[in-house]
Amino acid sequence: MYKERIWLSPPHMSGHEMKYIQQAFESGWVTQGGPNVDAFEIETRRFLGGSVSCAAVSSGTAAIHLALRILGVGTGDVVICQSLSFVASVNPILYLGAIPVLVGSEPETWNISPKHLENAIIDCLQKGEKPKAIVAVCLYGMPYQIDEVAAIAEKYNIPIIEDSAEALGSKYKGKYCGTFGDISILSYNGNKIITSSGGGMLISKNKEYVEKARFLATQARDQAPHYEHSQLGYNYRMSNVSAGIGLGQMEVLEDRVAQKRQIHKIYSDIFCNDTQIQLFENPNKEFDSNFWMNIVIIEDANLKSEMESVFSYNNIETRPFWKPMHLQPLYKNYSYFGDELSNKLYEKGLCLPSGTGMDIEAIQRIKDCLISFL
Ligand SMILES: *Cc1c(COP(=O)(O)O)cnc(C)c1O
Repeated sequence: MYKERIWLSPPHMSGHEMKYIQQAFESGWVTQGGPNVDAFEIETRRFLGGSVSCAAVSSGTAAIHLALRILGVGTGDVVICQSLSFVASVNPILYLGAIPVLVGSEPETWNISPKHLENAIIDCLQKGEKPKAIVAVCLYGMPYQIDEVAAIAEKYNIPIIEDSAEALGSKYKGKYCGTFGDISILSYNGNKIITSSGGGMLISKNKEYVEKARFLATQARDQAPHYEHSQLGYNYRMSNVSAGIGLGQMEVLEDRVAQKRQIHKIYSDIFCNDTQIQLFENPNKEFDSNFWMNIVIIEDANLKSEMESVFSYNNIETRPFWKPMHLQPLYKNYSYFGDELSNKLYEKGLCLPSGTGMDIEAIQRIKDCLISFL
């Protein structure tokens, strides 16, 4: 019998999106900027606790690019970045002609290792190249070691760009991800916890940074009756239609986070007694991941490929772990400070379906697969 494919983390509409899209069409405001964009920024600020400003842009990648520009990164500058991530965390460093220095992961959160981060900074300083920024990622929704990384950044006076593209709704010590960086970014790509069909948010406690982001995202047009430009800008502003989708999704964000955590609990119950398969969990009470994606580490390579086959046979998507940047052809010649952990996670990690749109039947199919397999 044909069984419908279960995807890893597909878009999940709330039903509230159309009313905002309708408004955009009725007002004729279907281009960049506009009332939905303003409202999306306000709603995001409200969700994050009100102490930040937000600028909606066309993607998370664009938000990182703008963040680097705002922090003054230019040709030949060094920027430190977590190696274990999606390529979009690093690419904007190259867009600017800057030099990425890659840092490995630590075992609790799988994010940037404070120890290796400090080694990287010391090495850069010895070469007379003070890093201009640190890109720290909340991978798969898990906050990085926020306090330790902040302490190092402060010690050496280097700003942090918090890449929380995957971590909207996650918390560290009771505070939301998206509020920890000197500049933080979110993504609303189709696979993320909520989507605007494609988009991103640049967030900062520093209002000037956010105003600068809006300026750079709209071709850096100076104030004048004609078109006057003294700086290089981009066409990165979010469209009013996309923002409408984002607003419809914001209405259910809390539910989506709760659903993601429920899905995680189901996996947790299945794997709790297994000694060979280890599910990625919050390291302690300070971390509260949105569990955007559920990952298992399978030590035995045969066991892992068996599990992949069982899922594949049942038309259920699984996916390998992010491949670290220091192993990518594009980045392998840049410096890397770290140990084998990132490589190991890439080899042994497997992403399991985590879509909030899964019904009881889909979850049962996944359970059946895993139970037959275990
Ligand atoms: C998705 C993602 C991005 C980029 O976001 P886009 O909106 O797709 O440009 C950046 N970093 C991480 C870790 C991501 O997962």
